[in-house]
Amino acid sequence: MNPSSTAVTRQTFDEVMVPVFAPAAFIPVRGEGSRVWDTEGREYIDFAGGIAVTGLGHAHPALLQVLQEQGGQLWHIGNGYTNLPVLRLARQLEALSFAERAFFANSGAEANEAALKLARRVGFERHGVHKTGIVSFAQSFHGRTFLTVSVGGQPKYSEGFGPVPADLLHVPYNDIAAARAAIGPNTCAVIVEPVQGEGGVIPAEPAFLQALRDACDAHEALLIFDEVQTGVGRTGHFYAYQESGVTPDILTTAKALGNGFPIGAMLTTAALAQHFKVGVHGTTYGGNPLAAAIASKVVELVSEPALLEGVRQRSEVVRAHLARLDARFGVFRQIRGKGLLIGSELNERFKGRAKEVLTAAAQEGLMLLMAGPDVLRFAPSLIIPLADLDEGFARLERTLARVVASVAAEAGAAQPKG
Ligand SMILES: *Cc1c(COP(=O)(O)O)cnc(C)c1O
Repeated sequence: MNPSSTAVTRQTFDEVMVPVFAPAAFIPVRGEGSRVWDTEGREYIDFAGGIAVTGLGHAHPALLQVLQEQGGQLWHIGNGYTNLPVLRLARQLEALSFAERAFFANSGAEANEAALKLARRVGFERHGVHKTGIVSFAQSFHGRTFLTVSVGGQPKYSEGFGPVPADLLHVPYNDIAAARAAIGPNTCAVIVEPVQGEGGVIPAEPAFLQALRDACDAHEALLIFDEVQTGVGRTGHFYAYQESGVTPDILTTAKALGNGFPIGAMLTTAALAQHFKVGVHGTTYGGNPLAAAIASKVVELVSEPALLEGVRQRSEVVRAHLARLDARFGVFRQIRGKGLLIGSELNERFKGRAKEVLTAAAQEGLMLLMAGPDVLRFAPSLIIPLADLDEGFARLERTLARVVASVAAEAGAAQPKG
């Protein structure tokens, strides 16, 4: 049997893959803009964006052109050589942000791993062996490497892997007093998401971020903003910190940076970057010319003021649709988020049913995300046509009608008959 000719189906997943994921029942094969088609030719509106990654939608013509051009030139050369696309990309990101130096990796977790290692290194070199404390927040998500998952604030992801790295402290998010109490002379870094994405789409209070900045300054600790999910236009600003008025020392960015081509980056100042001397950190693939060329085009397109304004406008449209659906069905406890990273928390009656909504949505031709068992998460393309937004919400309306009906039927069945 020639294995490459063997037909594969969704069931094959259960036979050949390590089961850390539970993918949907259908298999997408093609995408264009904000629409996706599966193996059966069924069409979906994409409100998931590959988990806040495809900010410019699928098969964007300008990105396809760069992929083909750079693909015919040079894919990979190794970090014994530099390359033109990566230098251009670093220049662009530094022109757009506080940063003066960039380190490129292949994912968000790796960007955070670099950020945390840099902070520990700076602490060690400037202050000594005691300065190793890392403060992070409950429900935060920073990736799945051993260090980043341990720093993350979701025990369900970090437990069961043996002794955790030392000197990590988790405190409640948006709790200024708890953060002040936790940040001290031994703290080398505080890492925070400006909007908690995986943790339930929870924006940081501006005063909370400012308090972190002040406490870090008081104790010479570094403030790291994990903008892996919020960065590259997602909140209606190129980076979310730019709206917050608080500037971090280190910023990590990934997800939408490559629009699906894997790339991540750690951005920082020249003074801090010096502590990563030759050989102190590294990567094989990070900063390769193919990923960098694509990201460079993404950054060029997303940083356009008109595009960012469009994100803020679409944000209002999404919120209006959600408010309308809530008025009709009474399903949400709260609608929150920034730009096109929006969460709607299900109310008591629908608690724990986000997964059920996602499954029903797929049957109606809508791809959606959750952020924990109680929150529907919306992260569509930043340039999703308004007609696709409207159509997606029409499909969500049909979805919710079904879910509401089935919850009512369950409740009816549970009623003792008089
Ligand atoms: C997705 C995410 C990560 C991890 O990124 P990977 O590319 O999956 O490693 C880290 N931080 C935040 C805030 C994220 O949303």
